[in-house]
Amino acid sequence: AQVVNADFIKSSVRPDDCPRDGLPEFALVGRSNVGKSSLLNSLVRRKRLALTSKKPGKTQCINHFKINDSWYLVDLPGYGYASAPQVARKDWDEFTRNYFLSRDNLVSVFLLIDASIPAKNIDLDYASWLGQNKVPMTLVFTKCDKRKKKKNGGKRPEENVECFQNLIREYFEAAPPWIMTSSVTNQGRDEILLHMSQLRNY
Ligand code: GDP
Repeated sequence: AQVVNADFIKSSVRPDDCPRDGLPEFALVGRSNVGKSSLLNSLVRRKRLALTSKKPGKTQCINHFKINDSWYLVDLPGYGYASAPQVARKDWDEFTRNYFLSRDNLVSVFLLIDASIPAKNIDLDYASWLGQNKVPMTLVFTKCDKRKKKKNGGKRPEENVECFQNLIREYFEAAPPWIMTSSVTNQGRDEILLHMSQLRNY
């Protein structure tokens, strides 16, 4: 299930512009700064395939990366960037939501959630929207290497993960699959790739 080659194919600004070859694809989405670029780079074992950006909300396109000439990893715009203008935010929402609902070859959305902090409403909203619309979803918890000091009131990643899952349970008939990851230690990388390969062959 390893990535042998990864090629950037194109940036699309509308679901209609996306590649039409029908190859299976997996979309990565999450709040700005969740660690999406780092995870994408870790999956393909490149330092900068997806430019890890310090400017959240910069990527406003759907970026298609073709993997091993046979499937796509799709980088979607990060959401929840507080200082983006309201209009632009509404646009991304509509555009990614359209993509989720209309893209036939979308096998699963990989929703990234930062496991180093408590659940955020915007992430809960996103997960519940996907659940209510029956969009196939996998939860990817990021930054699982980060350990908060108990004495500062911080919770362990495992506790944040469990709490998040409890909060979204009611929106799903069956609990979505979930994977704990770290782009620092590469925890979860092989598990994600294996999961994607199982979903493709399903
Ligand atoms: P994006 O905005 O979602 O693409 O997030 P980035 O990949 O640019 O990462 C945002 C910040 O989180 C950067 O400072 C990264 O170094 C940091 N980061 C990303 N992944 C991890 C991780 O797994 N562990 C830790 N400790 N930090 C991470």
